Amino acid sequence: MEYNTEQLALHASSWSEPSLLGFDLSTLHPAWQRLAECRGIGKDDPMDNPFFPVQGDMAATIAAKAMCDRCKVRQECEAQAQTEEGGTWAGLSERQRRARRETRWQERHG
Ligand code: SF4
Repeated sequence: MEYNTEQLALHASSWSEPSLLGFDLSTLHPAWQRLAECRGIGKDDPMDNPFFPVQGDMAATIAAKAMCDRCKVRQECEAQAQTEEGGTWAGLSERQRRARRETRWQERHG
């Protein structure tokens, strides 16, 4: 699977280290990501991240969504993820996020 590395870099699961070579990486991430249930997942192998699984790997997607169900910052995550195009964010697939966006748009513009 092709990963969108820019997208993965923004996802809470990719944030595991507070600093790298003296540079404070926390400045690149919203503060709520410190409390993310998925923080650090896939840090040893970014290609093994259930939030960005190989296409069709339902077990990975189910595992990611279960983590989101336990997460304390799901609302913050969903707010950030509204325009993200790949992966699981806040327990939602790309299609589910798009559907929610469309519903909100309909509610506002009727
Ligand atoms: S809701 Fe899910 S994707 Fe978002 S920070 Fe929590 S565990 Fe990670």
